Amino acid sequence: MSSDSRLRLSPSSVNDYNNCPQLYKYRSIDKLPQPPSLDAERGTLVHTVLHDLFEKLPQDRTPAHAIELLPKSWQEQIEAKPELATLVTNEKEWLDRAASLLTTYFTLENPATFEATHREMHLEDDFEENVYLHGYVDRLDVAPTGEVRIIDYKTGKSPKYGWEEKALFQLRVYALLYWKTNGVLPRLLQLIYLGDGKLVKSNPKLSDLESAEKFLHRTATDIFISIEKNYWPPKPSKLCDWCFFKTICPAHND
Ligand code: SF4
Repeated sequence: MSSDSRLRLSPSSVNDYNNCPQLYKYRSIDKLPQPPSLDAERGTLVHTVLHDLFEKLPQDRTPAHAIELLPKSWQEQIEAKPELATLVTNEKEWLDRAASLLTTYFTLENPATFEATHREMHLEDDFEENVYLHGYVDRLDVAPTGEVRIIDYKTGKSPKYGWEEKALFQLRVYALLYWKTNGVLPRLLQLIYLGDGKLVKSNPKLSDLESAEKFLHRTATDIFISIEKNYWPPKPSKLCDWCFFKTICPAHND
């Protein structure tokens, strides 16, 4: 493989493959287009505002200022993707929902009390000779003591009891990437769920990152086998109800 044709892995593509190889194929091999999803676009809008909020002076990082940023960010999002204008039929309701998510954010953190060292930080690694691993971290804070925490904002609800570990996989991959590139083990991983105002936290140990690394190697091996054999079994689950490809998926069209 040339360096351009390396297998590109990210936490979401690894999840796709493990949830359903057929879904991974549609998205990552065939690269079939998907229409914008309202949930994803709402997430983008809220992420943009939280990103821009840290451009302001600490005393100006207030709920009112965050909500003030919404209309301009939304306008820029529509300019970049004009089809959103028809997708969102009630703009007031749409912006009110985003404002409510931002208000919830302030019940979980006080952004006036710290600096966000990195926002939308791209982490990458030549993971194997033929595998490139990367991801975008919503926020990575380095404390004056040098301790690192990795933050990811979610606009949905927190996972049900017992599913937190699966949810933390994404942040463990980011922690692994940061550890590989900077030699520092992040002290805290934190998922911020704005949908129900809950936090999922973890203090990662090196063994957690090594487990994530082994899982990534196993997944890369399995994907190479799938590519070689052109074998992408569909794996029906509750996810199918949300899957854009259900109408063409062999599991639902026999
Ligand atoms: S409909 Fe279900 S089985 Fe088919 S690709 Fe989507 S997630 Fe996989």
